[in-house]
Amino acid sequence: MLISPQNLAENLREVRFRIDRAAQSAGRDPAGITLIAVSKAQPAEIVRVAAMLGVTDSGENYLQEAQHKIEQLADLPIRWHFIGRIQANKTRAIAAYFDWVHSVARVGLARRLAEQRPAHAPPLNLCIQVALTEEAGKGGLAPAVLAAAAARIAQLPRVRLRGLMCLAPAQADPSARRRVFARLRTLLQELNAGGLSLDTLSMGMSADFEEAIAEGATHVRVGTSIFGERRQAP
Ligand SMILES: *Cc1c(COP(=O)(O)O)cnc(C)c1O
Repeated sequence: MLISPQNLAENLREVRFRIDRAAQSAGRDPAGITLIAVSKAQPAEIVRVAAMLGVTDSGENYLQEAQHKIEQLADLPIRWHFIGRIQANKTRAIAAYFDWVHSVARVGLARRLAEQRPAHAPPLNLCIQVALTEEAGKGGLAPAVLAAAAARIAQLPRVRLRGLMCLAPAQADPSARRRVFARLRTLLQELNAGGLSLDTLSMGMSADFEEAIAEGATHVRVGTSIFGERRQAP
């Protein structure tokens, strides 16, 4: 069953309230935190309702599903964020359809996105996904090679390296997740100390966005707490 517009409105109110509260406890301005509503497995009509309720940013994991939605919602001023695993043969469409890509895990993928970003479009915003957990299959660049990769990506035309993204370990307790987020913040600070000027920490999902905000998240990616449980596993 699809979520009702009324439940969607209540969930959004609750998530925004929690973001504001987490920002205040951290002494941060809530305006510095962008809520990305992760709409994977949700139909376009639901995303349209979310947009009417003030959602400005949508996150998608699967290109084909997203393409369809982006076309159907082309009349809305939604910023589209690609947050899923990138297959090399999908970079052209990703570069054409999205405003942001959070899951860049190899320099070669960033290079393809840069080459394939349409010339008339504004620069594509990129985040490097960093592997900070042992969990298999999560993807991301190893911290040891991050500085070299970031320096190369920052040089590419038609893309703009904005920052870093990570996933926290699913099973860990809140303090362990918070340490992962703190580590990503430190890595960003190190890159900036080395001469880059990155402004984005994409971290925190339904289970842990408050810990992420405490550690400086600028973009939280929230699905389940807004739209309810997804029917199939992603
Ligand atoms: C699905 C997903 C999210 C949202 O997860 P929820 O637990 O539903 O909030 C965030 N980030 C990524 C990369 C995802 O794949």
